[in-house]
Amino acid sequence: MTKKQPIFIFGPCSAESEEQVISTARELKKYFDKIIFRAGIWKPRTRPGNFEGMGTEALPWLVRVKEEFGFEVCTEVANTDHVEACLKAGIDQLWIGARTTVNPFSVQEIADALQGVDIPVMVKNPIHPDFNLWLGAIERIEKAGIKEISAIHRGFHHYDNAPYRNYPDWDMAIKMKTMRPHTPVICDASHISGIPSLIPHVAQKALNLDMDGLLIETHIQPEVALSDAKQQVTPSQLNDIIRGLDFKKPTSDNPDYTEKISALRTQIDALDEQIIESIGKRMNLAEDIGKYKHEQGVTVFQQQRWAFVRQRYFDWGASLGLSPPFIETLLTALHDESILKQEIEE
Ligand code: PEP
Ligand code: MN
Repeated sequence: MTKKQPIFIFGPCSAESEEQVISTARELKKYFDKIIFRAGIWKPRTRPGNFEGMGTEALPWLVRVKEEFGFEVCTEVANTDHVEACLKAGIDQLWIGARTTVNPFSVQEIADALQGVDIPVMVKNPIHPDFNLWLGAIERIEKAGIKEISAIHRGFHHYDNAPYRNYPDWDMAIKMKTMRPHTPVICDASHISGIPSLIPHVAQKALNLDMDGLLIETHIQPEVALSDAKQQVTPSQLNDIIRGLDFKKPTSDNPDYTEKISALRTQIDALDEQIIESIGKRMNLAEDIGKYKHEQGVTVFQQQRWAFVRQRYFDWGASLGLSPPFIETLLTALHDESILKQEIEE
């Protein structure tokens, strides 16, 4: 069984000059034969006055990359003019950035401009963790008739982002793969990490979770980059990162593999059945308690009891090696559902 070849999207955050674009591509070609070369030419910056991209002047530089190095080229679009300029120039793929995905008006404008056009489009997740906004943007592009769509997980703004620049939500990336098995999900390890030292860890996690590609920003001289200088790596550093990753296979050729995995999965399935049955029984008891509390005029939420249950679970969980965040998530889900069951009867 051969290892899966992920989609590689490499190139600078922004196209800054013809020389910077071409020398980055030339250096990348030394290490990688087949990549999609990226460079932003219209840059959505948080505050005015920062470098906002070179605009249409940079389109021929990307076309040169395609002609001289044989890479497909892509850039970010945020409105009709951008789409039209890219189509006219012969850009191979487009992406919609996180600040655009949040706005259905903008996404619809792009979708309208793409009506009847055959070009692959990648949709980054919105800035904040709203799955439906991400899905909705993909659906708008799909409705315009675009066949090749991928989703890019670039992390989310979070009240406490550390250690990441944008917090990864792997569950959401997995949800996208589950809901849309035909849509590749690419991990933007650069915008999640924010610093080069985190990129290998984020990229490896993406491979372990069977994500379909990696986006990593690459600049010929990261320290003088006009945008995202802190997170970009040189093509040679990128090569080291990629060579250091452990690429996974979808399954194993080892004759014992299937048998061993099935035996373990049978045990897991049996335990899952017990868990679901126990939760069902627990919720029935919660309903009985709810009815009784109602008869007696007692509140559904009981602070002391909840504090006692929580402590017991955390202690017990710790003794079994279960992490406090996991116990917190599990308990919150059980408690929320339990309260809902009790309230329905009132
Ligand atoms: C980018 O890819 O350079 C970019 C602006 O990313 P995002 O939309 O994810 O912030
Ligand atoms: Mn960037």
